[in-house]
This record gives sequence, structure tokens and C-alpha cells, in this order.
Amino acid sequence: MSQTPETALVLFSGGQDSATCLAWALERYGRVETVGFDYGQRHRVELACRAAFREGLAAAFPGWATRLGPDHLLDATVLKSLGQTAMTEEVEIEMQSNGLPSTFVPGRNLLFFTLAAPLALRRGASVLIGGMCETDYSGYPDCRAVTLKSQEKTLQLGLGSDILIEAPLMHIDKARTWALAESLGGEALVGLVTEHTHTCYLGDRARRHDWGYGCGNCPACELRASGWVRWQAAR
Ligand code: ZN
Repeated sequence: MSQTPETALVLFSGGQDSATCLAWALERYGRVETVGFDYGQRHRVELACRAAFREGLAAAFPGWATRLGPDHLLDATVLKSLGQTAMTEEVEIEMQSNGLPSTFVPGRNLLFFTLAAPLALRRGASVLIGGMCETDYSGYPDCRAVTLKSQEKTLQLGLGSDILIEAPLMHIDKARTWALAESLGGEALVGLVTEHTHTCYLGDRARRHDWGYGCGNCPACELRASGWVRWQAAR
């Protein structure tokens, strides 16, 4: 299959950010496929949300459904064997001596893009899209624009390709991510994001808030909830 600028591959985890990126991509590209990664994450709920969100999206937005291609799931479980983090092991969520929270999985996004790029080439996609954000993030060094720009260059050189990386949420905060979802798909999309995406570090699906499911107390829930509150206040 030859490369075409109209096809994009979205790194789709099942969380709020990548779900919003998927809708963003469906607005812009003639064909959009998704890829997820099994990296031995403690809470499988995010992976389970992926299919439900894609199905809900296709049902609610027929125009997008015609452009939504297949989903791919790649094995990245090697990450689990590389080190203990709060995302893969029973480790407390806390700030570490290196200034990074224990939820940081070293090398995760670098590996994800490295795995996604050859898949994109095989599928004829010329753009990789990720939900990384350096605005109100947790200080993860692999979520910075400079990191993605550097990796894009490396992938282009290493693959002999003009593949691009796009990160539409890079410079917006969580309130604007909610607003972006609303501008892309109105209440229907906001409803899908709240019901069928998952962000909570503790994997809590028992508690339902206005902004979705989660414990309400972990750093991921706090970011998602505070963004929702600020977005609601600004509407
Ligand atoms: Zn939580």
C-alpha cells in the first residue's frame, strides 16, 4: 500500500486525551486507524474502553464512521519488565527523588511511537497522532513538544520516510480539551468521552462524576475534574 497524506494513525489508549484526538483526526483525515498498546498496565479498564468508545463514535457520527478504519493492538509488555512504576505494579503514586511521579513509565511514549511508525507505514498512514500535552501535565519528559519533534526527525531518518507526528493537545489545558471535544462533536461527543473513556490511575469505574468515572483523588482524576470545572465555568 502506498503512503497517502490522507491517512492517519491515532495512538488511542482509551483515555480522554487520545479519544479527543481520535475525533480531531476524523475531522481532518480521509481515513483514520487506531493503535493501542498492551504494556502490562495494572488497570485493564482503559483498554476495555477503547472498543466501546470507537463503537459509540461510529454509531453517533455516521460521517466519521465511514472514515474510521480498523483498530490495532500491539504488545508492549516489555515495558513491564523494565522497571517498577505505579502504572504497572502495586507502587504508591508519589513524587520520586528524580522529580518525576511514580506514574511515569520511562520510555513509554518513545516506544509507542517507535512501534506505531512501522505499523503506519504498512497501513499507508503518513501521520501519527498522539494526545501528549505539556500544558498541565505531570512533568513527563516524553510528553514535551521538543521530545516529539526530535522523535519525528529520528523516525523520518531511521525509516526513510516523511512520516509526521501531530499532537493537537500539546499546548492546551484540560479545560480546553473538553471544549475541543464539544466543538468537534457537541454534547454527543462530550457524552461519549465522559461515559466511555478512562483516565483514573487507580482504575476506579465504580464512582461516576459529571466528568466521568474515577476515584476523584488521584492526580489523573484531579486534572480531569478540574479541567471539567473550569470548562463548565467558562461556558
Ligand atoms: Zn483516580
